[in-house]
Amino acid sequence: MGNTSVNIGKIDKRVILVAHDLSPADTSQIKLDRIKGFVTNRGGRTSHTAIIAKTIEIPAVLGVENATRVIKNDDIVILDGESGIVIVNPSDETILKYQKRQQEYSAYKEDAAKASHLPTETVDGVPVRIMANIELPEEIEQIKKYGADGIGLFRTEFMYLSRDDFPAEEELFAQYRRVVETMAPKPVTIRTLDINGDKVISYGDTEEEANPALGLRGIRFCLKRPAVFQTQLRAILRAAAFGNVKIMFPMVSSYEEVVQAKEALLAAEDSLKKDGLDHNSGIEIGAMLEVPSAVIIAEMLADIVDFFSIGTNDLIQYSLAIDRDNRQVSHLFQTLHPAVIRMIKHVIEVGKAKGVEVVMCGEMAGSPAYMPVLLGLGLERLSMNTPAIPIIKNVIRLLKADDARHFMDDVLKQPTAEDVNDLLQKRFGDVFLPMPGI
Ligand code: PEP
Ligand code: MG
Repeated sequence: MGNTSVNIGKIDKRVILVAHDLSPADTSQIKLDRIKGFVTNRGGRTSHTAIIAKTIEIPAVLGVENATRVIKNDDIVILDGESGIVIVNPSDETILKYQKRQQEYSAYKEDAAKASHLPTETVDGVPVRIMANIELPEEIEQIKKYGADGIGLFRTEFMYLSRDDFPAEEELFAQYRRVVETMAPKPVTIRTLDINGDKVISYGDTEEEANPALGLRGIRFCLKRPAVFQTQLRAILRAAAFGNVKIMFPMVSSYEEVVQAKEALLAAEDSLKKDGLDHNSGIEIGAMLEVPSAVIIAEMLADIVDFFSIGTNDLIQYSLAIDRDNRQVSHLFQTLHPAVIRMIKHVIEVGKAKGVEVVMCGEMAGSPAYMPVLLGLGLERLSMNTPAIPIIKNVIRLLKADDARHFMDDVLKQPTAEDVNDLLQKRFGDVFLPMPGI
């Protein structure tokens, strides 16, 4: 369009980046010593761009419609990523106020990190496993430092972005092995490629889709591209020989998809046997429950998987019909919608009845304010963005599982997300009070 393009890798001053949009791949390339935060016109709070921002601990506000029009080069900008506020050319007084908040926030995080290596249990002794979501292999050191009980979600697609061809088996194997060996004996849950949707690859004959979120995404893509799938499955099974690996399939919407994915896994095992390559067969298999149809047939799926992982980001997107990347409807992305709470409840109940482990790995699991609801529903395994680990551990240590369970009797009577939120603030607001920005 005649615009000049900017390579964000080449920015050599300390700046806040203001852009129309940033892809998850662009965001993962950000150099933290130069880019101190970013604002975009597009995007939503649980988009993958926002998730990467959390992972690399960079303040970000997405979906500010006119950011590129209003903010000019060399403006001074305050970015409050916790509340989603952007202030352009603030007064000295406002700068001082925010500098103080920044210090309080850092002090709070440092304090929380001190006890992070310890196990987590509620005041009344219910242990909760706290695991990490990983996108970039560099995160592994911090995950160890924070004492995560394992990796509950390894978003493997990031190794397929920012390149021009599918990675080879050896390359994938080396990366997975590094993560698996570093975490051993703790589990590493490797999610198979969740490509497309908002993580489109620029190679591999990808067709443009009118509705990418409803398109050839996740397990659908892998089942359609068996060679790409086999390469990844072989790499995962080979890495599994070096530690504790589980595998899970994203975007499952039907029983037969899981059956076919398991057949593909068996085929990968057979081919590794034939090739005489070291691997681990018989690893635990899970389905991500992030499409409402999968939640509704959870009872049937429980017969063919070892665990469920609830992906609230997509579950909310697909059940409320809210595009998680679309700022125009982001106010309708309601994590506490009574329908969402009921779906989570259903999955946990099926899991308990059928002896299938249930984990939650969507952003809901890493948000302190939702802990009373999750504990109240009986969830005991959570996986989250790495920086959230110390904070969530702290919050859980302040709550009683028994109180949370009773609290749910009232929650389940509420007809709207706002009512649930009010109730949450009334009953548990004092727990969140010491946390700046919550
Ligand atoms: C989810 O949908 O909640 C999830 C964890 O997967 P992703 O955010 O990668 O789509
Ligand atoms: Mg998902």
